[in-house]
Amino acid sequence: MPEAERIQQLAEAVRYHRELYYNHAAPEISDADFDSIWDELKQLDPDNEVLHQVGPEPLPGTLKVEHMFPMMSLDKGTSDEDIVHFVTQSTTGGIQYLAQPKLDGSALSLEYIAGNLHRAATRGSGEKGEDVTLNAKQVANIPTRLNLPVDCHVRGEVVMPLAIFEEKYKHVSPNPRNLCSGALRQKHGDGKADASDLIFCAYDVKFVKDPPVVTHDSELLHFLKNSIGIEPAPWKIFSSSAPQKEMIEYTKEWIAKRPSYEFEIDGVVFKLDDLAQRENLGATAHHPRWALAWKFPSQEANSVLLDVDWQTGRTGAVTPVARIAPQMVGGVTVENVTLHNVGEVERLGIRIGDKVTITRRGDVIPKIIENLGPASDLDLQGRTHADGSVFIGELITGEIQIPTDCPACGRTLTMEGAFLRCIALDCDARTTRALTYWCRTLEMDGIGEKLIEALLERGYVTTISDLYKLTHSQIASLERMGDKSATNAIDEIHSSREMALSQFLHALGMPRIGPEVATAIAQHFVSLDEIINWAREGEPDSLTSVDGIGDKVAEIFLQGVIERLSLITELISHLEISPEEVSDLGIFSGQTFCITGSLSQPRKRIQELVKKAGGKIVSSVGPNLNILVAGEKAGSKLSKAESLGIEVWSEEQLNSQLTNENRTQQASPKTIFDY
Ligand SMILES: [Zn+2]
Repeated sequence: MPEAERIQQLAEAVRYHRELYYNHAAPEISDADFDSIWDELKQLDPDNEVLHQVGPEPLPGTLKVEHMFPMMSLDKGTSDEDIVHFVTQSTTGGIQYLAQPKLDGSALSLEYIAGNLHRAATRGSGEKGEDVTLNAKQVANIPTRLNLPVDCHVRGEVVMPLAIFEEKYKHVSPNPRNLCSGALRQKHGDGKADASDLIFCAYDVKFVKDPPVVTHDSELLHFLKNSIGIEPAPWKIFSSSAPQKEMIEYTKEWIAKRPSYEFEIDGVVFKLDDLAQRENLGATAHHPRWALAWKFPSQEANSVLLDVDWQTGRTGAVTPVARIAPQMVGGVTVENVTLHNVGEVERLGIRIGDKVTITRRGDVIPKIIENLGPASDLDLQGRTHADGSVFIGELITGEIQIPTDCPACGRTLTMEGAFLRCIALDCDARTTRALTYWCRTLEMDGIGEKLIEALLERGYVTTISDLYKLTHSQIASLERMGDKSATNAIDEIHSSREMALSQFLHALGMPRIGPEVATAIAQHFVSLDEIINWAREGEPDSLTSVDGIGDKVAEIFLQGVIERLSLITELISHLEISPEEVSDLGIFSGQTFCITGSLSQPRKRIQELVKKAGGKIVSSVGPNLNILVAGEKAGSKLSKAESLGIEVWSEEQLNSQLTNENRTQQASPKTIFDY
């Protein structure tokens, strides 16, 4: 093929695939394939215009950006002494300090020109990062326009809320951090995570010109928040004569708060607040002298794999639990850790008798993260159990035996991806767990796992619906159950008969159907009858129109309902399941919205505003749609809405409605119920 023709062909291909990515979010080829087309074109014709007029912005990761203000790394510390040293030596004479949680995500620099988002770049080497503007614009709280026409660089960390990670991504990646950088750097919107699931937390701002007149960093954070309109990570000021004591105290507070915090954090950053003092101290070749990144004490440690037990869970997944030599990690002695699934055992290439690295974070079950190869006798020595008694064990080596039969019911197991599964719905283990999950979700605190096991053993219950047929004398006849506890249990069962549809769906304990997903599904169908009809038709597709529910979850939910149809029908006769209430607060309550076209804010942000005002979001235009919000280049959805006679709003119309909403909310006087 003549070169000119090939160039023409490559340029066409770049244009075509870029169009799919930008305007249709429907990539046909992988990033790697796109890169090879791009590279070939660049080699043949480096000046080809298609390489330079890349839509509005370059494709994430293809362009290096030199940081006008280098993103330096910070000096690190892990102990109380490090904080004392920082205050009394490194920054001696410092008067006021500022602390912020050290967020564990991906660092990002946002460059604004005259208040407009000009470019977003990753940290990279600190001197040079990568242009990721396209993806950064998807992040819900990164404004494309600031409240003031300033020229500045806002620095911060992009993080994923742990709730979203748990709900949508924990099967995809071991931690939210990897997803953050992947989501920012993906080229074709085909990464593991959506950038719209990320949040930006600012910690610094630098002005290119005309900085506000301030003397302290904390004033800049206030300025960011109140004048510019970007939310900084929370901060705290220390200004006593010997602040190190309170600063150490503060790290302890964060250690306690960490497991329940919204985002993953790995420490606390301390900085001198006075900007002139910072200037005087300057920086070493590696880091500024006025800041300290204090990291939480290590939550990793080494031990030896002694044995592996297999347990069947509520969903039928058979998981390996590793028995290890006792090891202190994150403040507790651990002897059992999870190995997740068969795939993980294979990935680690682990054998009995291997030395392993374990990690434990907050409330999470400790896990093995690395295989260090065969252990020696020395690795077993000097260990004590949690009660202080000395651990005695000898080193045994061997393969991990992967079971073929269910450890609970003995039926043959099947492999599903990385998981070993017992598919028998009446499997003892599954029934125990399903019943336990039901009782826990519906807050029947008096009915724990032991009681459920006893009831199963006696044959008093075989399914969840049998719970509602239990009699007082049956429960009272069990060992250790008196008259009073039996009465309590019966009362609890009785008072759990009434529930909302979302609670019912959640309590059934299907994989990946947590409270949020259950609520979204319940609001979509409103009644259980609708769900049963839908399941009988066996078409998962209609469920994917619900925001946050993809093909996979829709399929899991459909299969879950089909498997449980007889259980559900039985349960209906014992329960009172109320139809799901769709939020009736706000002016948009009861109305469905679809949002299309290009808008001045990320679509996700607009969706949130509509939902806050009580509206429901759908992704397609149909006869039940009330309002289509159409931005520029709205396309087929707009013509379809017009042909159906559906009301169409511009973004301005939507905004003015939302402003009315805010005014009404502010104007209405508080009643006693508001307090
Ligand atoms: Zn089984």
